[in-house]
Amino acid sequence: MVILKTKKDLQNWIMRNGSSIGFVPTMGALHNGHISLVSAALEIYNLCVVSIFVNPTQFNNQEDFEKYPEPLEADINMLEAAGCHCLFLPAVETIYPQGMEAKPFPIGDLENMLEGAFRPGHYQGVVQVVDILLDAVKPDGIFLGEKDYQQFMVLSVLINKKYPDVQMHLAATIREASGLAMSSRNMRLSPEDKIKAVEIFNTLFYIKENLLPGNTNKLIEQKLVELDTHGFKTDYLTIADARTLEPVNNWDGKKKVIALVATYLNDVRLIDNMTIN
Ligand code: AMP
Repeated sequence: MVILKTKKDLQNWIMRNGSSIGFVPTMGALHNGHISLVSAALEIYNLCVVSIFVNPTQFNNQEDFEKYPEPLEADINMLEAAGCHCLFLPAVETIYPQGMEAKPFPIGDLENMLEGAFRPGHYQGVVQVVDILLDAVKPDGIFLGEKDYQQFMVLSVLINKKYPDVQMHLAATIREASGLAMSSRNMRLSPEDKIKAVEIFNTLFYIKENLLPGNTNKLIEQKLVELDTHGFKTDYLTIADARTLEPVNNWDGKKKVIALVATYLNDVRLIDNMTIN
């Protein structure tokens, strides 16, 4: 695996190796969820390029940014073992040579709902960096995780508008045996909290198993109280239309819906989701 730090080196490498490219953008602190995206890319494309870049413009909380784990050596070893061909590891100045200010990209309603409501500016930052990365890597396909379901929808807007030739691939959420969704932020949980955090999965699974057509609010309220009792501070727990993310308060039993949650365990913010039908 080559490790490249500048756009120029990346473009030269791509030109020399000219072949189909599957791209996996990440912020590092890799786990098997990320590696599943690499494996999926290698099944379809000749080359896999992974980027690791902790993007400052998508953090609305400075402490979250500063505490983001950066175990680079372990990440490199995981990527080598997975068969990744190229790690793009740019510095902040490489991505933003003219500074981090950017003209907002029109994302529509998705920008301010759910994650967007609790993390103002987050999705503009995500779109800004993925736009720059796609322009640098020029891949044939991009691999994204269902774990960040709203992010996938937001990036669909960018890619449909600006990169219509890039194939989007959505990969299922990889979980610990306990059910806890793998996440780089899990590294910040104490061993006790890692056990407690399984309650997030249990909540979503319970909703999936017990949601009936009709009013959805009572089930959500019950589960919110339970999360609270277990010591979580929840930003949102909701049942939404899987295509638009609009809340579904009255389910007809047919519409494709998804349960989504964002909640804090101590100061670690965790998100997860589960499609219901
Ligand atoms: P991140 O490094 O958190 O920005 O994530 C990079 C990519 O990995 C995103 O497309 C995520 O949705 C995806 N991802 C994160 N966690 C998981 C997981 N547990 N299973 C599958 N994909 C994941």
